[in-house]
Amino acid sequence: MGNGFHVRKGAALASLVAALAAIVVIIALSVRLAQEKSRNAGTLPSTAEPTAFIPKEPWDHYRLPDTITPISYNVTFWPRLEPDDNDLYLFTGNCTAVFKCTRETDLILIHSIELNFTLLDGFHARLTGLNGPAPSLKKTWLEDRTEYLVVQLDGPLQVNSSYELFTEFVGELSLTQQGFYRSVYTEDGVEKVIAATQMQPTHARKAFPCFDEPALKAVFHVTLIHPQNTTALSNSITSGHVNITVDGQDLIRTSFGPTVIMSTYLLAFVVCDYGHIRTEPGRSVLIRVWASKTAIDKGKGNYALEKAPPILAFYEKYYNISYPLEKSDQIAIPGFGHGAMENWGLITYTEPALLQGLHESFYEEKEVVVAMVSHELAHMWFGNLVTLRWWNDLWLNEGFASYVSNLGSDHAEPTWELNDFIAPEEILHVMDEDASCFSHPLSVKEEEARTPHEIEFLFDSITYKKGAAVLRMLSHFVTEAVLTKGLQTYLKEFQYKNTVPKDLWKHLQMAVDEAGISLPRPVEEIMNRWVLQMGFPMITIDTRTGNVTQKHYLSSLECVMDTPSEFNYSWFVPITWMKNGKEEPKYWLLTKEDTNTDMALGSSDWLVANINLTSFFRVNYDAENWERIISKLNSRHQDIPLINRAQIIDDAFNLADLGMVNMTLALRITSYLDKEVEYMPWGRADFHLKNFIDILHSRGIYGPLQAYLRNKVTPLFQHFRELTLNWTKSPARHSDMYNQMTVIKLACKLEVNDCTQLTTTWFREWMNNSTNKIRPSLKKEVYCSAVAAGGVEEWDFIWSMYKKNVTSEAGDLFYALSCTRQPWLINRYLQHCLDQDKVSGCNIHHALILMSHNPVGQPLLWDFVRANWRSLIENDRCYFLKDILISTATDSLSTEFQYKQLLQLKEELKEHLCSGDETFEEALKTVEANMKWIERYKKEMHDWLISETSENRDMGNALHVRKRVALASLVTAVVVIVVIIALSVSLTQEKSRNAGMAEPTVSAPDHYRLPDTITPISYNVTLWPRLEPDDNDLYLFTGNCTVVFKCTRETDLILIHSIELNFTLLDGFHARLTGLNGPAPSLKKTWLEDRTEYLVVQLDGPLQVNSSYELFTEFAGELSLTQQGFYRSVYTEDGVEKVIAATQMQPTHARKAFPCFDEPALKAVFHVTLIHPQNTTALSNSLASGHVNFTLDGQDLIRTSFEPTKIMSTYLLAFVVCDFGHIKTETGSSVLIRVWASKKAIDKGKGNYALEKATPILAFYEKYYNISYPLKKSDQIAIPGFVFPAMENWGLITYRESTFLQDLHESFYEDKEMLVDMVSHELAHMWFGNLVTLRWWNDLWLNEGFASYVSNLGSDHAEPTWELNDFSASEKILVALDVDASCMSHPLSLKEEEVQTPRKIASLFDSITYKKGTAVLRMLSNFVTEAVLTKGLQTYLKEFQYKNTVPKDLWKHLQMAVDEAGISLPRPVEEIMNRWVLQMGFPLITIDTQTGTVHQKHYLSSSECVMDTPSEFNYSWFVPITWMKNGKEEPKYWLLTKEDTNTDMALGSSDWLVANINLTSFFRVNYDAENWERIINKLNSRHQDIPLINRAQIIDDAFNLAELGMVNMTLALRITSYLDKEVEYMPWRRADFYLKKFLDILLPRGIHGPLQAYFRKKVTPVFQYYKKLTRNWTERPTRPSDLYNQVTVINLACKVELKDCTQLATTWFREWMNNSPTNKIPPSLEKEVYCSAVAAGGTEEWDFIWSMYQKNVMSEQTSYSLMYALSCTRQPWLISRYLEYCLDPEQVPVNDIHHVITFLAHNPVSQPFLLYFLRTNWQDIVNKSFFSKESVIYIITSLMSTRLQLNQFLQFKEELKKQLSLGEEEFEVFNTVEANMKWIERYSKEVHDWLISETSEK
Ligand SMILES: [Zn+2]
Ligand SMILES: [Zn+2]
Repeated sequence: MGNGFHVRKGAALASLVAALAAIVVIIALSVRLAQEKSRNAGTLPSTAEPTAFIPKEPWDHYRLPDTITPISYNVTFWPRLEPDDNDLYLFTGNCTAVFKCTRETDLILIHSIELNFTLLDGFHARLTGLNGPAPSLKKTWLEDRTEYLVVQLDGPLQVNSSYELFTEFVGELSLTQQGFYRSVYTEDGVEKVIAATQMQPTHARKAFPCFDEPALKAVFHVTLIHPQNTTALSNSITSGHVNITVDGQDLIRTSFGPTVIMSTYLLAFVVCDYGHIRTEPGRSVLIRVWASKTAIDKGKGNYALEKAPPILAFYEKYYNISYPLEKSDQIAIPGFGHGAMENWGLITYTEPALLQGLHESFYEEKEVVVAMVSHELAHMWFGNLVTLRWWNDLWLNEGFASYVSNLGSDHAEPTWELNDFIAPEEILHVMDEDASCFSHPLSVKEEEARTPHEIEFLFDSITYKKGAAVLRMLSHFVTEAVLTKGLQTYLKEFQYKNTVPKDLWKHLQMAVDEAGISLPRPVEEIMNRWVLQMGFPMITIDTRTGNVTQKHYLSSLECVMDTPSEFNYSWFVPITWMKNGKEEPKYWLLTKEDTNTDMALGSSDWLVANINLTSFFRVNYDAENWERIISKLNSRHQDIPLINRAQIIDDAFNLADLGMVNMTLALRITSYLDKEVEYMPWGRADFHLKNFIDILHSRGIYGPLQAYLRNKVTPLFQHFRELTLNWTKSPARHSDMYNQMTVIKLACKLEVNDCTQLTTTWFREWMNNSTNKIRPSLKKEVYCSAVAAGGVEEWDFIWSMYKKNVTSEAGDLFYALSCTRQPWLINRYLQHCLDQDKVSGCNIHHALILMSHNPVGQPLLWDFVRANWRSLIENDRCYFLKDILISTATDSLSTEFQYKQLLQLKEELKEHLCSGDETFEEALKTVEANMKWIERYKKEMHDWLISETSENRDMGNALHVRKRVALASLVTAVVVIVVIIALSVSLTQEKSRNAGMAEPTVSAPDHYRLPDTITPISYNVTLWPRLEPDDNDLYLFTGNCTVVFKCTRETDLILIHSIELNFTLLDGFHARLTGLNGPAPSLKKTWLEDRTEYLVVQLDGPLQVNSSYELFTEFAGELSLTQQGFYRSVYTEDGVEKVIAATQMQPTHARKAFPCFDEPALKAVFHVTLIHPQNTTALSNSLASGHVNFTLDGQDLIRTSFEPTKIMSTYLLAFVVCDFGHIKTETGSSVLIRVWASKKAIDKGKGNYALEKATPILAFYEKYYNISYPLKKSDQIAIPGFVFPAMENWGLITYRESTFLQDLHESFYEDKEMLVDMVSHELAHMWFGNLVTLRWWNDLWLNEGFASYVSNLGSDHAEPTWELNDFSASEKILVALDVDASCMSHPLSLKEEEVQTPRKIASLFDSITYKKGTAVLRMLSNFVTEAVLTKGLQTYLKEFQYKNTVPKDLWKHLQMAVDEAGISLPRPVEEIMNRWVLQMGFPLITIDTQTGTVHQKHYLSSSECVMDTPSEFNYSWFVPITWMKNGKEEPKYWLLTKEDTNTDMALGSSDWLVANINLTSFFRVNYDAENWERIINKLNSRHQDIPLINRAQIIDDAFNLAELGMVNMTLALRITSYLDKEVEYMPWRRADFYLKKFLDILLPRGIHGPLQAYFRKKVTPVFQYYKKLTRNWTERPTRPSDLYNQVTVINLACKVELKDCTQLATTWFREWMNNSPTNKIPPSLEKEVYCSAVAAGGTEEWDFIWSMYQKNVMSEQTSYSLMYALSCTRQPWLISRYLEYCLDPEQVPVNDIHHVITFLAHNPVSQPFLLYFLRTNWQDIVNKSFFSKESVIYIITSLMSTRLQLNQFLQFKEELKKQLSLGEEEFEVFNTVEANMKWIERYSKEVHDWLISETSEK
């Protein structure tokens, strides 16, 4: 049949053909493998027949008996081109077969299948005798299995008598392209049907009953009945037309002249409405080209018509026989699945194989036409005139046509040099297939090819390509002239007959003999070894000895060859060879081993065998010869013939795969490629390197590989740039054209500079002008490259082109669609595949196969397949979908993870698979093989690549540059993490509380809280930190402590906090006790109680009440890096690593520095002494009172003593030893304020801003609190790497260095704001917290909430123009609402007994404490007025200074102030506040503006949440409600009950109401639907009438209520519709917050498209607004809120692919890359700009960011942005590399790991990689990172939303449970995946519909 197999790999010629061919190959191969395997296993193929079946009857056999010979057929057909009532397209027909009986029989077997017969006198047929009477029929039936019509006769047929068998039948013109079928196409918008045939190999029987074997030749008389507007064609010329009318239809009966004698499979007929062109009359043969009228009118058939005559003429000469028929029609069949079919006289072609555009006639299109026409015309003699006897010798037919067609093509287009490179390439290609141990001999035994199925399998590439290769070898050793001669006499002798190969060998032998050519063996003997056994030899030449051996070459070591061969897999091998570039005489290897002394070389000689691939074998050499070949390639590669350069590459990679040479040898051969410009070697290199690239693409090793290959391909890319005059013209040589395709594909893939730019530019031109100037041969790669680099716009454009395009480009377009790296586009595309209207039948699996090669698409594809398995099988109309899919999808799978996935998939699909299906086993084997492959070569390759490329050496350097300790986290990051951790901890605890599993009750020393027996008075502490490591590499400190305390209740037990300290035993005890008012009782026993963190001192007698005692201890501890207690921090100054010692005591770490009564209420005076090196400074809470220099163990030290502190809590103590510089306020001011930092930072003035602002802030507070700052000094010190933003140690505040220090010249507003906020917060604590301290941690909220609330005032005072209070407070409130809505939240004040353990205390530092605390105080301030609040606060502080309090104390003072001011409140302050403080959560206020009804309800963010924590207030609040009507604020209204009515709130029909003005209260609000509508109207008409903060609140409330189903999600979305008019930060910030969730979760889904379009529409105006405001991004906005909004807007705009935005980002980034270190990107924008550029870019961008990250030593913000940007890549291998770096602290410091993980979790491309990484390295990550395991799980699951992800997570969970012995409950709270799935289920339809209605796009 057609030469579908003739298509070269990689050539994008008519890719539709290529694609189909590829699929056919795959199917044929996989089916054959299965069959071969079962044959080897001794069972018959399952496709054939059950093993139990033993043929008994003649009709049980597939082959016809030799009783009958057909003579002629008279067939009439009437195809119906319109469907009948049952929607079927039928044909009716009748057939008279005339035959002769050749052996007596009473049985007629005639092939027939899929036909319905008209019964004639009760039988399926009527028999007539031509030479006398016929026996009467006994019985007739259809035998479906063997495809016979069986006619049993009453008597025998007479030998040599002729008979006529008449039948009448109906069949269907199906779409199967078998027998008589129909094909559909569209012309001028009208759908048209044509009827056509495909008989080969066994489909003639589907058109009419016939003796359907090739040897049963006959003459055919064909008649066709067809509509009058159509043409009928058949093999012969028309002999007559008769117009007839049947059933009112006007028809034509067209008769054709009798055919010549021929086989059934060559019969053809077509009915169509076509036009045609023809050769001029007068020529001996009429040649016509038929196609749709439009195509003919457009001249698309002209080229074929021009070339067919010379090709036909060439063959007449070549075969030396005239073309036997009068005419030769070439007809284009739309959608024809075979390349072409050689029906004698009426050749059918798939459209792109015959037609080509006249004006855009690129010669790659022409090449297909020439090749196809040549192949099919070659068959007219070889195949049609002389036919092989049976299908088992098909190879000779197809191999010959393929071989000869190269000659025909060469004749038709001699300048193209086609023969030079096409044949060799195909040889190399088919060697790959023939090397499998499942290959087959060219000729199989006749009995192995009996069933239609078995016959179909023979149409594979062995048959076509190995056939041609072996004939090419034959031609070479007998000479082309002799081959032609033998062929001519052979054809002459056997014309119109059938033959076996032996007949051909005989004629060739005669020609050989005649020409006097000497062969070592007869032709037949030589050829039998190549034809009758599968495979081919590997020849090994040892050039040291001249020894030559052969061995059957098999491509797998594991392959067991159990198919015997009569020749024992030995061949007679003609070996051509050259020595030092000179060809030597041909050498025949006739045995397994031989010696050819000519091949023994000198030390500088080199040898290459198989010149120009004239023989069919692979060759290996001794190592020395390989080395000399490599040298030659690198010095003068031209000395080795072109074809052999390709062969050398091919052989080397193949041998390396088998371990016969090293893989590095193969790779080293490619090193000469930077000098190579020819197609063939590049083609082979591309073929082999593709494996490397595919398998390694998602691994870190891809980096050096890419760099290496980029070096090789860059010169070629430049070569072609010159050759094509900067890509403006096409290369002249044909092979260059192919090579250009290879180079563009490779160069873009390897990220060669300018390649992507080139392809994108071309593509853009096409998109903008819709005139496509891209050369056809480049289209495939250009489209792909542009789609990969682009976004939805590019994809949609290709999609629209694909939908429009029906012919030649469809394949290229289709291919490009699979190249996108956007998960949502991939998913949308996959969804299209389920929709027949979008992607039709056969193309579905084509799409899936292509997608399986996209590393980003692969995981999504799997997910898709699992979810849609059933419908995929149902939709599978064409081929064996699952075979193709599974086997190709596994080609690039190579990890254990993927292997497991596949296993799981197999389990899931078990029940859907056919029994005996081995698809999965095969696939699993492939993955295993890939895993092994990587295992084997990874190391070797990696080392070699590193040695070859400079890239990684640079990286090595970069590595050493980075000698910094990990940067700690940015405030925002820490806050996020703290929230997560706190949340998770409180969740778990809350849960266990709910489950009744309270912490065990304990007795005496088992309590965490100290008994009330002792009160500390003072401490005398001396500490000596060592800033150098000791012999064990530990940094220690030693110290002693004398604590003076008073006994307040009689006791014989002293409990004092201590943990992580080693005590010096004093007289055998941990401490020494002295009485100050008399003798102390003696010690009985002392020990350390680790759980409760006590030093326990048991006494022999009791302590006396009111007596004082001294407890002395001596101890050593470690200055660890944990940042708890006394710790160390490391930084680098001038290249020297420096250590400082510092403290962090809050909340319970003082006990880690020295033994102490470590509770906030146990205040005392501290006398601190520090011993430290002489070049360092020591600091503590107080001023230093004295310095003493002394020497100890040869060290010069200072003893610095400090003044006693004020009375204060242990957690506020601080000391620091450092080598810092400082600046201070001028002498004379009442308080000394100093700023401390590294000398360098101080010198650079980085502390100046902090010093400048601290003074006024402190002054502000003195006034605000109405109490002078109680201490003499206030130090602010910058601690490098401090994980907390700051700590309010009294007099010595510690700050995180990176936020605290400001660059004088480069400081940006955002950084300053953070600093002012921090300083304000910490200084606020000096009074609230430090001077007056809460009694216990359970009231921490009041401390922190107050500091946060007041710091807004302080900041506002320090920088009044920034308007900080407004939006920073509202932001905090909205966050607090979010967190507090969880049913796992907690009250602001917990019960004291609920806060006992250090862990619980630490967990309270969460956002409820900080942010809800602020919100509630802000509300309080609002209803009592700020003046009253301040007043009450002042008297409160005055009363309780140096003491401890509970909140009640504050309420009392506030109530006094309220009463004094005469403010009327509906309830006392305490009663109101208790409801907000003592119960968790807050109310949802619902206002019905119809009636004025107001009611409250505990607001919970999840409807599934069961609230089982009781509240004494029953979750009811006293709620102050501020509100406005039509924009005018109304009097405040108090809601004091669950429900109430405020008639003022009942509105008229045009009024609108908004409650909670400026978020002054802490609740959410809902309205009746009408009021919501009026709010939406107002927003859209004049949004300014609603206060700014309320616009944000409205968005926030609406989305939250929508999530709960209280309003529709579309209501929330409709509220955002006004955003195109909004330019303010707060509403945008809230919208961004919620939309991000949509964009994130929906990112991989098709709905992302309209969503993106919608937001693009909304964000565009505000983007333009900022563009204008900043004068085209050259200036910065002046308002802080604009600064923030600019970030939000750019972030969102780039995310939704606003072109201006991505362009802006890329431009900025490029400027930075080109001019680094000058970076003009503002810090607030750097995060998104970098991300956007990395996402759109490739390795270059990533590497640049990586190097910046490695170098970055100061700014944490920048470090954070860089880490984020690195996670934005869409390149799987970069993701893998990034993850690998996480395991190496030299690359990614331990403290940064959690950032990397968090960021990667947000990138849908990296999610699967991340999950795999975590599974594999879980222990490592959790052990190292700052993250709790809960938070890791939370982060990775929060964005998962698919079934696959859920499965993966569940699997992961099982593994972890085992590994870490975790309980189910530890995962439960994080079951967000299911929640996400539900979320999507709930909203996607609603949201989708709404979006579609909103956006014009789609
Ligand atoms: Zn063919
Ligand atoms: Zn604080």
